[in-house]
Amino acid sequence: MVTNNKEYMAKWRADHPFQIKRYNETFKKKHPQYGSQRYYRRIAKWKVKIEARSKEFYRVRRLWINGFKFGKTCTLCGDTARLEFHHTDSRTKIFNIAHGIHRTKKDVLTEMKKCVLLCKACHCKVPTKGV
Ligand SMILES: [Zn+2]
Repeated sequence: MVTNNKEYMAKWRADHPFQIKRYNETFKKKHPQYGSQRYYRRIAKWKVKIEARSKEFYRVRRLWINGFKFGKTCTLCGDTARLEFHHTDSRTKIFNIAHGIHRTKKDVLTEMKKCVLLCKACHCKVPTKGV
């Protein structure tokens, strides 16, 4: 009986030697310099590029989301500083705005419509269900 993924993969490999051989051949064709120093140097370069791109993406996204808070006030106390999104109905909540900023703009906007803005102090005070 196979209990985990590792065992399953080992079993699959044992059962399909030809597929493994073919896969290895195509991989070597695709990546002829695999294992060489040059290959790893190239990967390091890509990594830097990808990290920079993702950092930029999150920076722009954060600005975009903070733009919605601009000029708004806390629904309970009227404070303008440190505003957070609060879901008025937790049953319709799909994700946390702060944790879901990588999602599509459409998804984020539909999620934002379910929220009201609260300042940090009020957000700590309200119970998780309802304002
Ligand atoms: Zn407040």
